[in-house]
Amino acid sequence: MQPRFIFVIGGVLSGIGKGVVTASLGMLLKSAGFKVTTIKIDPYVNVDAGTLNPKEHGEVFVTADGGETDQDIGTYERFLNQDLSKDNSITTGKVYKEVIEKERSLYYGGRDVEVIPDVSNEVIEQIMKVAKNHEITIVEIGGTTGDIENLVFLYAARSLMQQYPSIAIIVSYVPYLANVGELKTKPTQHAIAKLRETGIEPYLVITRSPLPLDDIRKRKISRNSFIPYDRIIDASDLPNIYEVPILFKKQQLLEKVLDGLNLKKNEANISKWEKRVEKMNNAKRKVKIALVGKYVEGEYKDVYLSVREAIKHASIDLNVKPDITQISSFDLKLSDLKPYDALVIPGGFGSRGIEGILDAIRFARENNIPLLGLCYGLQLSVIEFARNVAGMDGANTTEIDPKTPYPVIDILPEQRDLIAKKQYGSTMRLGEWVAVLKEGTKVYDLYGKKEVSERHRHRYEVNPIYVNDLKKAGLVISGVSKDNNKIVEFIELKKHPFFIATQAHPELKSRFVRPHPLFTGLIISFM
Ligand code: GLN
Repeated sequence: MQPRFIFVIGGVLSGIGKGVVTASLGMLLKSAGFKVTTIKIDPYVNVDAGTLNPKEHGEVFVTADGGETDQDIGTYERFLNQDLSKDNSITTGKVYKEVIEKERSLYYGGRDVEVIPDVSNEVIEQIMKVAKNHEITIVEIGGTTGDIENLVFLYAARSLMQQYPSIAIIVSYVPYLANVGELKTKPTQHAIAKLRETGIEPYLVITRSPLPLDDIRKRKISRNSFIPYDRIIDASDLPNIYEVPILFKKQQLLEKVLDGLNLKKNEANISKWEKRVEKMNNAKRKVKIALVGKYVEGEYKDVYLSVREAIKHASIDLNVKPDITQISSFDLKLSDLKPYDALVIPGGFGSRGIEGILDAIRFARENNIPLLGLCYGLQLSVIEFARNVAGMDGANTTEIDPKTPYPVIDILPEQRDLIAKKQYGSTMRLGEWVAVLKEGTKVYDLYGKKEVSERHRHRYEVNPIYVNDLKKAGLVISGVSKDNNKIVEFIELKKHPFFIATQAHPELKSRFVRPHPLFTGLIISFM
């Protein structure tokens, strides 16, 4: 298969939604019948996102094959409705780790190993590993033009552009200056000039701005930066990110990109997508969902991104408008939870803020408020049940209290060693694992099948020693892992409208056009 490349490069600022732009373009190309994939390059030196603090990084997305990646991989999957692999995520650390390992094994035959060409060749190799099986590979290069960190990636992009039909797209910020009442294009002109210094000529400019890019500004970029007028595409802020492909389609982005890649024009059929966006925007009935967690305030934006998107996806078919509030579990007042139709308890780590979450879980259990627990959400639901229903006073997870009298959540046996050796990077129980569901449970009914596969990211599990006692006290184990370890994967309560928790992260498999049954079930339970 002849690979073709689209490089998406940032201008002026990072964090302006290059991921959504990349995902939207990918979705359009896929709808036009092309075999497409998307790669995210993160210039940080970490090997993957797994060890990054949520404050630093937002959500860690987990791929089916267990990669701990940037949240953009999640955005791509949600838009493309396609599983990606850990190979679709490349970092400086991952590239250098490989180069250094090769050097140690005399791969380079004892000569000097240099950034150009050895590191750049490794980048190319890692890109080609994914690209060779696809017609079009979109590579989003993190950061902006002018950064030191992404230079080697831009060099690799340029080399690939010489070898294969390719285009580069610069996604650039156009700020609005309130005092003059105008969008300003100068920073974008500079960003384009900076990109040209690397030898890369942008084929298209996509502008991100708070207001639609007007004709005068478009002409200005075109004239001053020598970019044809019709190759300047407006991607101004929209209330709903799923409208971006529609905005692009209106501006014939697909046709322009195919032109640039010397591909014959195929029509993209996105009517199903458009209908869903319309439904989403027109839904009137509000449902109020509280996400009670510890990573909520200030810098923690985006830690629960996939959970929020999963709630949105599930709402579409049910014709409801989700009003999602992230509630911090620190100094939580239970009366704050009263206005909500349902609670979602997301994943997390460590002891800070946990007692507040346990109070919220108890409140939901005792007051028949629908609750969906995800990963730590399952573990904390089990702790709450053990303490307040099964009479296990002081029950806890050994993650928080290694001396608890009732370690109802305990470390997975294979994890003990890894932690002792401080081997934290990509060593959790990661990726997709199959669970076998128990017939007659709510979880079984929601999935409508006996075996389900969900993504995971954890080191602890429900302690098998306590499973029988918990069951006797009324906890329903609705599913366990299919492997010999029989890890508790799903729990639920009988006399409750909806109290379900899973050791997995089902939010990671929810897609815009394919909502997840657990999220759909949660909303239906109170409608
Ligand atoms: N801290 C818990 C564990 O490691 C839960 C992890 C999570 O919520 N992703 O098992």
